Amino acid sequence: MNECDRMGAKHGPRLLVDGTAGRLARWLRIFGLDVEYVGACEPSSITRLARQSGRKAVTRNRNLAGRLRGAAILLQSERLDEQLKQVIGELGRERCEVFSRCNICNAKLAGVAKERVRGRVPEYVYMNHDRFSACPVCGRYYWQGTHWQHMLAEIEAVLEGKRHG
Ligand SMILES: [Zn+2]
Repeated sequence: MNECDRMGAKHGPRLLVDGTAGRLARWLRIFGLDVEYVGACEPSSITRLARQSGRKAVTRNRNLAGRLRGAAILLQSERLDEQLKQVIGELGRERCEVFSRCNICNAKLAGVAKERVRGRVPEYVYMNHDRFSACPVCGRYYWQGTHWQHMLAEIEAVLEGKRHG
């Protein structure tokens, strides 16, 4: 196993999401995956970037996925829930660490003591939660409120194929 493989094994899957799947990028980060978002670049630039960074491209662009062969996941659906199900299914749910990453800037969150967030999050949030984390890059605070739990339950249902309608 070479250096890069070891890094990959330790840090989990590293992905490169292009402009054909923008909304998906944030959701993959919510699942704790390391996602770089490149927006609308030429397939040739994305190919180069994926090779240089060792990231697996996630795209709806058949041409791009063809160029990268094994180093790409070609999304089969236009729907966000189906895309999420496909990617998590291919990578393995056990490799995801939900709520461990900032969904805006992709940095790993760090736990912060409750007293440190006093006055920095809404009072009712402070009163009702004990576990907080913060993004070391943008400084956003995170907590697992009812909104998050609801979203997660929905997503888990999608992944398990229990979604109806
Ligand atoms: Zn951040």
